[in-house]
Amino acid sequence: MTHTQDGAVSAQPEPSGAPKPTFSTLGLIPELLRAVADQGYTEPTPIQVKAIPLILQHRDVMGAAQTGTGKTAGFMLPLLQFLAPQASTSPSPARHPIRVLVLTPTRELAAQVEESARTYSKYIPLRTAVVYGGVDISPQMKQLHAGVEILVATPGRLLDHLHQKSVNLSRVEFLVLDEADRMLDMGFIPDIKRILSVLPSQRQNLLFSATFPDEVRRLAKELLRSPVTIEVAPRNAPADLVTHQVHLVPLLKKRSLLVRLIRSRDMRQVLIFVRMKRDANRLARQLQQDGVVAKEIHSDRTQAERMQALEDFKQGKVPVLVATDIAARGLDIEELPFVINFELPHTPEDYVHRIGRTGRAGLPGEAISLVSPDEVKFLEDIERMLKRKLPQAPVPDSLADSRHPQRPRETRREREPRRPPARAPHPPRTQPAAQPSPSGFDFSKPYEPSSPKPEPAAAPPTHGRHHRPTAALLGGGPVKREK
Ligand code: AMP
Repeated sequence: MTHTQDGAVSAQPEPSGAPKPTFSTLGLIPELLRAVADQGYTEPTPIQVKAIPLILQHRDVMGAAQTGTGKTAGFMLPLLQFLAPQASTSPSPARHPIRVLVLTPTRELAAQVEESARTYSKYIPLRTAVVYGGVDISPQMKQLHAGVEILVATPGRLLDHLHQKSVNLSRVEFLVLDEADRMLDMGFIPDIKRILSVLPSQRQNLLFSATFPDEVRRLAKELLRSPVTIEVAPRNAPADLVTHQVHLVPLLKKRSLLVRLIRSRDMRQVLIFVRMKRDANRLARQLQQDGVVAKEIHSDRTQAERMQALEDFKQGKVPVLVATDIAARGLDIEELPFVINFELPHTPEDYVHRIGRTGRAGLPGEAISLVSPDEVKFLEDIERMLKRKLPQAPVPDSLADSRHPQRPRETRREREPRRPPARAPHPPRTQPAAQPSPSGFDFSKPYEPSSPKPEPAAAPPTHGRHHRPTAALLGGGPVKREK
């Protein structure tokens, strides 16, 4: 380990030539080894290799890792191991105090984390619960009253339970803050501080974040005691697995091109990004009118609607999901082959977050962007950050804009390798090694955001009738806090 400027220590990589770590060499108990084997995990991911031994040594950890790296098992497995000796089948609530508290920014992530906790603890008599807003609080109260050892919560709803005295956090020994940067984006830091104030001061703290803006660093400093920092590349570094394609297209022809792409490429599972909630509603509705089965997911939908849309999408019942940036954070959709940016994000970091939804778990993916003339500046920002030009695909003449000439095509050397056809069998799951991309952009390091943004509420500036972005016609609502 080496010391960093913050006084924290940084975990060092395994010396090359050392035997490959396995879950059992990481020191996990047989009940957990059986549970991970049941999941088909053959070897730990890089973050698991780093995090599990440190957490088992009772160290506070600051982890730079995105969803998709296997971080949930990275923190959950050692925490379950700590809980195992006192696990009990007793019906008495007193025997099931909350000992692990995991805070997440979104309901979807909370549900996923709780599901993981349940999966990994299947051979240990431990109880888990998840509480988030947007649903009836009474069943949650009942479940908390009966006693659970592991509680996963979004901050707003947890505060509701604290106010109603339906949750007792006085026995918490382990706290996990997941996706701390999203917590910051969504305005949760004050809520988190309120929650921290009621926790016992003696506890082990783990904080995970994809990016580390100043406020997250400050929070980490307040929260963590002599932390060890660990850092891993996204399991699916964009450079390795995702091919990019840009279509320059007039705004008013985007939808025709979108429908044409979905049909001609036989896309059976595609996540489409827009910037504003109302645009997500509108585009999903319009696609339905065009005969494409589509649903939208954003933070104004009820929890039940969001879960249903996601489930239908995961199961392939709905091939097209239209999402805003915030709604898609933390979504773990296995084997998602396509992401389409119907509108480019206004910050290049969001492009990386968006395309991180595809190419996951070692499988290839394709990121397609429909770029109208007023968005070229955002494309240039993205290319500047990635230090490469994104390959441009031709647009059919009927959809092209004579006033907006296509950029010169890339040379053969710049062109990306073609991905396999839409539903071709995926290659075996392998974990790509963390490596800088040929462009020089270092994907092994979490990027530093310029300014993380919530779902935008205001319409962007407009220039001329025909090039007026859809968003400007529709306006947008303020960011809804998760509760
Ligand atoms: P997470 O980053 O925790 O959201 O995990 C992303 C995905 O990786 C989940 O679908 C996990 O089930 C899966 N996963 C976690 N650990 C492993 C592993 N060691 N081997 C294979 N898949 C894993």
